[in-house]
Amino acid sequence: MNRIIVITSGKGGVGKTTTTANLGAALARLGKKVALVDADFGLRNLDLLLGLEQRIVYTAIDVLAGDCAIEKALVKDKRLPNLVLLPAAQNRSKDAINAEQMQALVDQLRPKFDYILIDCPAGIESGFRNAVTPAQEALVVTTPEMSAVRDADRVIGLLEAEGVGRIRLIINRLRPEMIQMNQMIGVEDILDLLAVPLIGVVPDDQKIIISTNKGEPLTLEEKLSAPGLAFSNIARRLDGQDVPFLDLMSANDGLLTRIRRRLFGG
Ligand code: ADP
Ligand code: MG
Repeated sequence: MNRIIVITSGKGGVGKTTTTANLGAALARLGKKVALVDADFGLRNLDLLLGLEQRIVYTAIDVLAGDCAIEKALVKDKRLPNLVLLPAAQNRSKDAINAEQMQALVDQLRPKFDYILIDCPAGIESGFRNAVTPAQEALVVTTPEMSAVRDADRVIGLLEAEGVGRIRLIINRLRPEMIQMNQMIGVEDILDLLAVPLIGVVPDDQKIIISTNKGEPLTLEEKLSAPGLAFSNIARRLDGQDVPFLDLMSANDGLLTRIRRRLFGG
C-alpha cells in the first residue's frame, strides 16, 4: 500500500521542509521508494535542503503544460537511488497550480512509490489546499511557541474538514533546558492543546542549520546525531515500527512516562 502524506503547519519557518527532506531520506534508507513533492510554489527550497538544486531541468509546471513526462521532471538523488524530488517552479506565484492539477501529479506518481511526501507552503490559502487535497495522511509540524501551536490547531481543524484520515504531530526545535526554566511550553502542554497523537519530538540543534546549508539531510549521516536520530525514528514510526521516544527530557522527571501514557494508554 502506498501512502500519501502532507507535511504542514500553518505557520512558516517551523520546519516543514526540513522535516520533508529528512523523512524522505530516512524512508529511502529503510529501502522504501520515496517521491518528495514540493508544493511550495513561489518559495521552493526543498531542492536546496536536498542539495539537488543544480540538477533541476523540468518542474511540475512543465509536466502540467505537457512539455515533459513526469519521469523526466523527477530529480534522482545520487546518494539514495530510491529517492526522487518533483520540483516546484521557481519565481511562480502560489496560483501557478490548482488542487486538481496537484491531484493529477500525485496520481501519476502513486503507482511507482511507497511514500509520497508533500511539502506544504505556509498559510491556509490555495497553496495549502493544493498540498492537502491529494493527501491521505498529515504530519503537522509545530514548535513550542504559542503562535505556532495556535496555527497548528487551526490547521488540524482544516485537515479534519478536508477528510484527511490520519493526523499526527511533530514538535520541532524543542529546548529541554528552556522548558525546565519555564521559558518554553512543554510537550505535555502542547499535547493537551492539540488533540492529535505525537509521532516525534526533534531537538533544536544548529546541526540542522549546517545540514540545510550543505544540502545534506542529517538522516543521511552514517552515525546519526540527536536531531538525525529523531527524524530517523519518526520515519520508522511512520513505517509502523514501534520505536521508543528519545529521552530529550531525561532531567524532567516522569514527563516521558506521562507522554507515553497519553499516547498509548495505560
Ligand atoms: P518551513 O518549511 O516550515 O518554513 P524550514 O524547514 O524551512 O521551515 O525551517 C526554517 C528554518 O529553521 C531553517 O533555517 C532551518 O534550518 C531551521 N530549523 C528547522 N528545524 C530546526 C531545528 N530542529 N533546529 C534548528 N534549526 C531548525
Ligand atoms: Mg518550507
